[in-house]
Amino acid sequence: MTEKYIYSFQKGDGKNKVLLGGKGANLCEMTQIGLNVPPGFVITTKTCLDYLGNHQLPDGLLEDVKAHIGEIETLSGKQFGDRRNPLLVSVRSGSAISMPGMMDTILNLGLNAQTLTGLIEQTGDARFAYDAYRRFIQLFGKVALGIDDQKFDLHFAAVKKQAGIKSDVGLDAEHLRQISELFLQVVLEETGKPFPENVYEQLELSIKAVFNSWMGKRAVDYRREFHITPKMANGTAVNVVAMVFGNMGNDCATGVGFTRNPGTGVNEMYGEYLVNAQGEDVVAGIRTPKPVQELAQEMPDLYKQLVDLRNRLEAHYQEVQDYEYTIERGVLYCLQTRNGKMNATAMVRTSVEMMAEGLISKEQALLRINPELLEQLLHPQLDPENKAQSVAQGLPASPGAAFGKCVFDADTAELMGRAGERVILLREETKPEDIHGFFAAQGILTSRGGKTSHAAVVARGMGKACIAGAEDLQIDVRAHQAIIGDLHIREGDTITIDGSTGLIYLGEIAMIEPSFSEELKILLSWADEFAELEVHANVDTPERARMALSYGATGIGLCRTERMFNASDRLPLVIDMILADNKEARQQALTRLFPIQRDDFKQLFEAMSPYPVTVRLLDPPMHEFLPSEHQLEDDIKALNLYKLMIQGQQVTLETLGLQALLPTPFNYLNEDVINKAIAKKELMLKKVKELYEVNPMLGHRGVRLGMSYPEIYQMQIRSILEAVALCTQQGTPILPEIMVPQVITLQELIKVKSFVDQIQQEVESQYGIALEFKFGTMVETVRACTRAGELAQVAEFFSFGTNDLTQATFSFSREDAENKFLPLYNETGLLEDNPFEVLDAKGVGQLMKMTADSGRLTRPDIKIGICGEQGGHPQSIRFCHHIKLDYVSCSAPRIPIARLAAAHAKLLEDDYRMG
Ligand code: PEP
Ligand code: MG
Repeated sequence: MTEKYIYSFQKGDGKNKVLLGGKGANLCEMTQIGLNVPPGFVITTKTCLDYLGNHQLPDGLLEDVKAHIGEIETLSGKQFGDRRNPLLVSVRSGSAISMPGMMDTILNLGLNAQTLTGLIEQTGDARFAYDAYRRFIQLFGKVALGIDDQKFDLHFAAVKKQAGIKSDVGLDAEHLRQISELFLQVVLEETGKPFPENVYEQLELSIKAVFNSWMGKRAVDYRREFHITPKMANGTAVNVVAMVFGNMGNDCATGVGFTRNPGTGVNEMYGEYLVNAQGEDVVAGIRTPKPVQELAQEMPDLYKQLVDLRNRLEAHYQEVQDYEYTIERGVLYCLQTRNGKMNATAMVRTSVEMMAEGLISKEQALLRINPELLEQLLHPQLDPENKAQSVAQGLPASPGAAFGKCVFDADTAELMGRAGERVILLREETKPEDIHGFFAAQGILTSRGGKTSHAAVVARGMGKACIAGAEDLQIDVRAHQAIIGDLHIREGDTITIDGSTGLIYLGEIAMIEPSFSEELKILLSWADEFAELEVHANVDTPERARMALSYGATGIGLCRTERMFNASDRLPLVIDMILADNKEARQQALTRLFPIQRDDFKQLFEAMSPYPVTVRLLDPPMHEFLPSEHQLEDDIKALNLYKLMIQGQQVTLETLGLQALLPTPFNYLNEDVINKAIAKKELMLKKVKELYEVNPMLGHRGVRLGMSYPEIYQMQIRSILEAVALCTQQGTPILPEIMVPQVITLQELIKVKSFVDQIQQEVESQYGIALEFKFGTMVETVRACTRAGELAQVAEFFSFGTNDLTQATFSFSREDAENKFLPLYNETGLLEDNPFEVLDAKGVGQLMKMTADSGRLTRPDIKIGICGEQGGHPQSIRFCHHIKLDYVSCSAPRIPIARLAAAHAKLLEDDYRMG
């Protein structure tokens, strides 16, 4: 065999996670820095890919496995398959990127009828040996032989019931022997063959099963959901490790821990353990474990060793670690470590504190946080004013609050989630196969398990609210209900869970927007020190502007004026303007709109002072301000019916000589009034028909409206410039910018600039002051990109409207693409990302680069930014930094993400690669 498929823990390169997987690399590293790790070896991820490609293990692999088992035998003093002193091993998966619980693991491998007796003699503990045996048969049966867990569970439950025993701990050696026998029978019945006695056959089947689990549905779904590409992780390694036992008696224990609190980031011992148990008991949440602090009383010496282990791990990895350990007869072994998955609050706090402690640099403090994670900090919290009484409490396992309809299985959660329902997934405990339910749910609630149970770890990773171990809740999955005392919560009932306190409420509780923590402010201020890109906001109102400012925006990159038109006090005026069939009538409506717009702009400039505010002139097609044709036809029908009713009433009352009884609304809403309403609606209908376009978004919109109806643009320009004059007069420092949408020719821009020049002169002489502002254009048509050099003769700035530019470059509309074929394109790899979310650097990005280059040739100091939705996306922000834009502009909630991403873009600029 020429290629090296296997590395022992003493020899493997702890930095090579791609080849050895995260777990394998860390086991090598921990062994090599002198931590007490049981002996073992790693079979590489490359071997997995060979196996999956060729459907067989590489030649010579099994001989190499034997040789490495030999090394473990030497180090442990035990023999694999030996009757007297048997070596047992675990076979664990582990890829370059941690995918908790997504792939398979087998424990206690090496047990058979022979070695079992050896284990009993060796330990003098038949109960322990049979317990290990029955666990192995079930796990091996499930993972390597594909037998449904339930087949085993039924027998297990039956023996327990017959013996009248509630807890697993109550089972004695004889019960466990019976269970093992029944399990062996299950294997025979299900596979037609006896359970394999040959320990190397067990090992070979297990290695293959772990490799196969890389392509299992769970793992594939997980990689898709978390965008784990083959470049990031390709194949799983297999770790074969000597077993150590936490369940050999009361001087044994097993536990999991984080080096800091992963929910809050507080620097403290954090974790849980169980005395006399195997690791899976803690993780699967089958018994509720004790907080690690209790170990200080129970095993003081080992607690000290554990604190020391935790300190050494953090000092070595310079990162919060999520570790697993076992205490076997008073000896502490570290079985695994990996970077801790934490929520955003904890990531931010640990970054700031580890930097203050001198453990990491400022750059590391920024780079260890994925900018997207900050979105969690903008998740809703329960309104502290709420007076609702909680009905139960569990462990606060993943912070944030959520409400939704109760569902009791992952499939229903997925179905209801797809139908747009908000759901909370309730389970006794969760397993990796429930993962699709997590994706669909707003929050997760379990009645068993601790803060490191599967449900808690996965929910934290996803930033979803989770309560674990709510033991007052009896969750009956079969009956689709949960019972708390007399209270029955049924499928479809709404509950609210607060993952920060562990409290559970009936119904929907009011939520509030979260506020920025001090640590986040510090972290983002560090980000601003490095970032070269400025972060502006896409907002249209003074309130949103203030919110954007509080999130750290240093400007408004896009104020869409049409959003101001849509407010209820302006819409009737806008409609009158559209209905006007001559210039004078239109001017009249505009004259009424003018002071309102001027005040809007003034307030916006004041709110953002002294930062820049880019106001875009009217963009959407006019019919967007009118009701739909269908709606108008219905309205007219209703009005005509109403008119008929009034006539009928009148005839009735006249006939009976009872006119005096005519009800007031009918007196008031007489036929004339109705006729007027009908006439107006008919006029609107006529206008809607006139304005009809086959492709409105490619039609009469943007600057083309300004060319056809100059008085609209002139009114807007005058409002902006008078607002500038008023702010200047009162001494408010401002940086206003006028921006023209949808431009395709220099002539369009020259024309709008001529309106601006004319109005500027008028306003300057009216107010007796000089006005300072910039004039520029959106770049959102392909032609604008190709004519950028010319446009820059007039435009002092460019702002890439990558929403439209992406549609134009791809020649498909966002709505059609996202509803019809884009998911398929993304799933099958025809397109890597959704270009409306992640900037298409290779296509749209090239147009942007070309535009920026030719714009700068004409006007070297031209200011260039982006205001399409992609401007808030970290990967897109790296590209914008790469082509040296001045700013990105995004919606207010994405500002913290963009600020951190802008710092990343700078810090990682040397290894920028496009896609
Ligand atoms: C754009 O096209 O990217 C843009 C910001 O404009 P809108 O989304 O308003 O069309
Ligand atoms: Mg646009």
